[in-house]
Amino acid sequence: MKQPDFTNLGDHLVLNFLNTLQHYRGQEIDLIDSPSHLVQWILYMEQHQWLSASQRERLITQGTWDLTQVQQFRQYGRAFLGGSASRVLFFNYLSGVSQQCPLTFSLVDHGTHVERIAVPNRGGTAGLLSLLSYDFMGLITSDMLSRTKQCESSRCIAYFVNRSGKRKWCSMETCGNRQKSLRHYKRRYTSH
Ligand SMILES: [Zn+2]
Repeated sequence: MKQPDFTNLGDHLVLNFLNTLQHYRGQEIDLIDSPSHLVQWILYMEQHQWLSASQRERLITQGTWDLTQVQQFRQYGRAFLGGSASRVLFFNYLSGVSQQCPLTFSLVDHGTHVERIAVPNRGGTAGLLSLLSYDFMGLITSDMLSRTKQCESSRCIAYFVNRSGKRKWCSMETCGNRQKSLRHYKRRYTSH
């Protein structure tokens, strides 16, 4: 089966997850519309160092998937970032989700830095959503929440952490170039 194109990485694990909902020609595209696509997303996150091997192993070998719950989490998370969900209710929701499955922590020494890794006690939906809730709480309690913004491309709904404060697009390769060539086209053919 062809792997969906998980290109919209947002500089935070949970944003990468929220970006599995995309827009294409006015249609919503759900990149994790089946358990096998969800597992492919987890493998992709490991390949790009957003998840460790121990996290990936726990998530995909010990659990079953409830896609409705996973998609609800994504929808609610997107509504919170978009400002249309109550903060208090969303914070309570994240607490409730994390209570479904405890996490244990370990430290991995990379030489140049030490990484803290949270591994859920179970895999599948409960483990994934607990891990994503923890990551979301990390985003909310850091200064990264105020830097989280949505891509300025009219065709894109991806979220990303705007670390420089100047970034406009989720990715220069896709949305950035597309917008620039669109502007170039407009200047060339419409402004005289
Ligand atoms: Zn974009």
